[in-house]
Amino acid sequence: DLDADITEDAYSETSQLSLAVQKSLRRLKAVDQSRQEFVSNVSHELKTPITSIRVLADSLMSMEEVPVELYREFMADISDEVDRENQIISDLLTLVKMDKSAQSQMNIMQVNINEELELILKRLRPIAKRSNVELIFESIREVTADVDRVKFSLAVTNLVENAVKYNVDSGWVRVTLDADHKYFYIRVADSGIGIPQDCIDHIFERFFRVDKARSREVGGTGLGLAITKNVIQMHHGIIDAESAPGEGTTFSVRIPLNYVPRQEEKS
Ligand code: ADP
Repeated sequence: DLDADITEDAYSETSQLSLAVQKSLRRLKAVDQSRQEFVSNVSHELKTPITSIRVLADSLMSMEEVPVELYREFMADISDEVDRENQIISDLLTLVKMDKSAQSQMNIMQVNINEELELILKRLRPIAKRSNVELIFESIREVTADVDRVKFSLAVTNLVENAVKYNVDSGWVRVTLDADHKYFYIRVADSGIGIPQDCIDHIFERFFRVDKARSREVGGTGLGLAITKNVIQMHHGIIDAESAPGEGTTFSVRIPLNYVPRQEEKS
């Protein structure tokens, strides 16, 4: 009987081990697949402007004589594509620098969040004005919290910029700040075009765009929200989006007031 028990224990241990191995393999496979997808998306996104530049340059070169107006138009298009390529590369570098191993590069300091949000809105006011969008700041509480000022500011800027970019004429963007004893909360609500229900689960994915043409028109790369989510997670926070197409979108962020490095992040 003892023998039987030992065999049973050994069997159960082996089967547990085999389950754990299978689980690890599945996880590795998923990581590998998502890496492959990322690389293939990156190549595609980087190649698109280059292809346009190639076509524009080739057509200019193939003409015996180029009317000056046409020349100017094509050169302006080439210049736009160069800007676009630059923006993609710069967003990609930001994203790559922010992978999980970059936790140790968090430059945490005590920041007055009210002042920081006021500053972000001040910087974005000219852009909002151009689109005839009103920027409103509603501070429910004074908040001081531990954040990496540069990264935090980038994350919030992306949200407010999007709220302006995907808005309607004479629309508004309302940024609200609140806190309790443990967290602070930022809400960025807009009166914009909204996000269809079947897209809302994907908007934080790298390169995902609801409407490629519109994103392109406003200089988007599809990386902004991926960067924002990374930053919020690096602060051990969470971000969520709710939207009603045709009415508007609200992004909600929750971040701990005190930054406590997690065990695996200490080095
Ligand atoms: P992009 O560079 O295209 O703006 P983001 O990663 O910042 O990329 O956003 C991904 C997509 O999510 C956008 O292309 C847009 O379709 C949608 N989106 C983001 N913010 C908003 C918003 N406030 N209102 C409506 N759509 C939004």
